[in-house]
Parts: sequence; C-alpha cells; structure tokens
Amino acid sequence: MRTYDKTDVALPLAPRNEEETTVLLQEALGMAATTGLLMRSAGGSRTDSAHVKPAFCHAPVCLLPNALPVQEYVKARRLATIWNLLVARIAHDGPWLLQTLASVLPHDEFTRRLVEIFQAINGAGRDVQKIQLGITRSDYMLHAGESGSGSPELKQVEINTIAASFGCLSTQVTRLHQYLVQKVLGHSRLSSKSFILPHNETMRGLAHGLAAAHKEYLRQESVMFKPSQPSRPGRRPCVLMLVQADERNINDQKLLEICLWEEFGVLLHRATLLEVARNAHLDLQRRQNLLLVSPLISDTGEEDVQEAEVEVTVAYFRAGYDPSDYSSEGEWKGRELIEMSAAIKCPSISHHLAGTKKVQEALCRPGVLERFLKDAEDVDAIRNCFVGLYGLDPECEGATAAVAAACNSPQHFVLKPQREGGGHNLYDQDLVEALSQMTAEERAAYILMEKIRPPPFEAFFLRDCSVLRGLAVLELGVYGVYLGDGEGKRVILNESVGHLLRTKLASSHEGGVAAGFAVLSSPLLV
Ligand code: ADP
Ligand code: MG
Ligand code: MG
Repeated sequence: MRTYDKTDVALPLAPRNEEETTVLLQEALGMAATTGLLMRSAGGSRTDSAHVKPAFCHAPVCLLPNALPVQEYVKARRLATIWNLLVARIAHDGPWLLQTLASVLPHDEFTRRLVEIFQAINGAGRDVQKIQLGITRSDYMLHAGESGSGSPELKQVEINTIAASFGCLSTQVTRLHQYLVQKVLGHSRLSSKSFILPHNETMRGLAHGLAAAHKEYLRQESVMFKPSQPSRPGRRPCVLMLVQADERNINDQKLLEICLWEEFGVLLHRATLLEVARNAHLDLQRRQNLLLVSPLISDTGEEDVQEAEVEVTVAYFRAGYDPSDYSSEGEWKGRELIEMSAAIKCPSISHHLAGTKKVQEALCRPGVLERFLKDAEDVDAIRNCFVGLYGLDPECEGATAAVAAACNSPQHFVLKPQREGGGHNLYDQDLVEALSQMTAEERAAYILMEKIRPPPFEAFFLRDCSVLRGLAVLELGVYGVYLGDGEGKRVILNESVGHLLRTKLASSHEGGVAAGFAVLSSPLLV
C-alpha cells in the first residue's frame, strides 16, 4: 500500500491496519467483479464489428464510505423534486431560454447548433410529444463558509439534465460498502456508533422512470390509434439508448438495461447517433413515430436475413452532450430525427439546454427563480444552495467587476464553458490567461463561479487493483426522475430516486469519474 499524506483527520470508519486493508481490497475486488461494478479498460479490444471482446476492470471506488452530515443529505434529497419541476418549466419557456442563451451563441458553435435544432422543432410547432422524461442529477459539495467556521453546508456545483451517469454503479457501490462494513470491519463496530449507510435505489428508480415513459407512449398510441389501425406486425416497442461508440462506462448502462427488462419487462436497444441517421426513419402516417431498423440475431447467433423494426418509445441520451459526439453531419441528422419524432425524449432538446451552465447562472439573478417556482419556500431552498455565479456578457451587471476579481484572486473562482462531462473548466493561471486573452464577446460563452471550499478528510482510494490513501473532498449527486409536461400541469412522476457520492483527491480541481479525476463512493451519514 502506498501512503501519501499522513494526517490527523478523524475517520469514522477506517481499516485498523495493513492486514485489514488487504482483506478489504480482496473482498472489494471479488464483490466488484460479481456485481458488475466494472468499467471497460482503456483500449479494451474489439475483435470484429459484431462481437465485442472487452477487457473490464473494477470501477475506481473508495474502500469505505465517507462521512456526510445527515441533515445535508436529507436536504439534497428533498431538493431533487423541486429541481425536476424547475428544469421542466425552464425547458417549456422557449423565449426565456433563447434570450438567456443568446449571448453565448456567437462564440459557441456547439450550443448554437443545439439551439438551432430547438428553434426548428419548437418554432415550427413540430414538437409532437408534449411529455418529457427528465433524469436529472444535481451535484453538490460541502462549503466550509468564509471563515471556515460553522457547519459546512451543501452548495450546488451544477445540475445535469443529459446523460447523468453512474446511477447504477452507485447502487452497486452502496452494496459493496454495506458488505465490507458488515463483513470485514464487523457489525459491532458499525452499530456502536450512530452511522447510517442509506439505501441507494438509483438503479431501480431510473429503470422505473424509463418504464413509466415507455408505458405513457404506448398509452398515447392506444388513444390515438384504434384497434382498427394496428401497428405493423413485427414492430417491437423499445426504449432506445443513444450511446457513444467507444463508451467505457458500459456496465452502468448494461445494469440499467437488465433492470429495465427484469423488473419492468421493457426492452432497451442501443444505438449511436450515426446508426440512427443511417438506420432510422419516421413513420409519418402514425404521428412521426421513430422506427429503427435492426438486424435480428437468430438463435444460432447468426444474423437473420429478415430485418425487424424497433419502434422507439423513449429516446434516452447517454451521448450527444459533447461536440465530439457529433464528429460528422450524420450525428446531427440522427439527433434531429429523434427530436422530430413522437418518442418521449430523455432529455428533449429544450430540457438539454435548460441544463447549461449559462441557465444556472441566470437562475441566480434576482426574480428569476420566482418566475418558475410559485412556492416561496422552494425558492429559498434552491437559492440557499447557490454560491456566486457571474455572467460575462457585456450586458451582465457586474461582469467587469467579476472578471477583475477573478484575475486578482483566481484561486477563488472557476471559469466554465457550456460543456458537460468533466475536464472543460479553467482554474488558477489558466483562468487568468483565458480571461485576459478573450474579447468581451468571447467571454460571454463562459460563466464565472465562486469556488466551493469543501473540508478535506482522509480517504482510501481503490484504483487499478491497489489502495492509495490521501486527503480527499466529496461531491454528492442526487438523481431526480420527472415524467410530465413542461408546465407541470400533468405530472406523472416526480421523484428523488437516489444518490451518487464521488470522492477526489483534494489537490485535484475536476471531479469526473469517467474523466479519471474522482472515484465512486457512498455516504456514511453522521
Ligand atoms: P461538468 O458538467 O463538466 O461535470 P462541473 O460544473 O460539474 O462540469 O465541473 C466539473 C468539476 O469541477 C466538478 O465535479 C467539481 O469537482 C469541480 N467544480 C466545478 N465547479 C466548482 C466550484 N464552484 N467549486 C469547486 N469545484 C468546482
Ligand atoms: Mg455536468
Ligand atoms: Mg459535473
């Protein structure tokens, strides 16, 4: 075991010695392999186009759960349903969304193309599906406050409205920690203190959301088309997961697919945006239903000559959030086809845009939360989680002062472009250089955010089959599932379904697991 920092930070749960660490490591590796707590290794090989022969490794995890104040956890879990509704209403308010994003577009081609799709669909009244499925994840870090005194509170890092991942692996990490704490550390050590390892039903909650959306689509079909107009035989209604061709976080997706099938009897089909462009078409006779032609695999494992059509009930995006997901015009065509279709989108293009960093910044401005939320308590609860956020377009009040403050004290700020997936933010000297080199118009594509200062603690990371110890900080994510219309008038589902805890070395700026900065963990409520 490599020992990094030696600190006096108290740990609620820690291995007693190196022998116990080794036992925890062995047990964790066995449990990870058995429960699918795995990721495809970088460079996992494909033997041919049809048969993938991946090499898997355990997902990077904390060896033991990390302490989190129980009241902060409860608060974040409660906020999820408010966020769900808030995001749905923002997505429904096209004029506000366009106005808010306008200053970003001249210097952000990616966001501009997303907005163009949004305008093409909404402006032309081609939005044939009023129900949307939102799978959101609001991320928070503990903030120690100005003087470092007082109890730390959770402050929001960001809200994710597209491809919020790790929900299923997070459920498996909770299982892992429950098992390790009971088996290796011993139940008596756990029960002697008032620790709670909360259940984490994220996997089932997400599958339930997809299944409910699938059911809603079929209900709409049955209302619109009487039995005298049966759907074509051979068409199979399926959820479609849009994936990246070289996805490493494949088990997180496969666990969801299996849960959806086993618990709800709904099949999920995977395709890239390019495959959609090549193999899908709209059935214009039946309200723009999206049909995907898929080769049937026969019992012998060989491709059947016959082709079956998959009718997409729900288009669930686990790709499409990064410019690299659109390496040709084909992917944009695939995205447009989906947006024009009657499938329930998760997210719709407007829901996607509602999760941009620019929207998050706009929500901090006076009166904006009140525009979307009627309940004053909800407004207060959300606003209490904000740290300082500053728009940089010349029209934004305080933009010049914010840029000056960030250049003088970059250690207190994060500069964020309109991107997802980790690794895009700028810090310290990079932030200063970027701000000084950009024109005022170019800066408008970014937002400045006050840095959250989480209290560090000592943690045991399990990466590449070995344990390392170091000073760490936490980022808690809470998953929400929303199924309903944009106005919040017809709400079929609005739930807080579970959590994700990520732990990273305190010395690292970024926090993504897939991007290699953080590991998965689970909260030990204290
Ligand atoms: P992305 O959508 O790419 O995940 P985030 O806003 O979540 O973008 O930023 C990525 C990471 O950067 C976060 O996981 C967190 O570790 C760090 N980070 C972002 N904003 C802040 C902040 N205000 N204070 C401290 N760290 C932050
Ligand atoms: Mg994000
Ligand atoms: Mg993030």
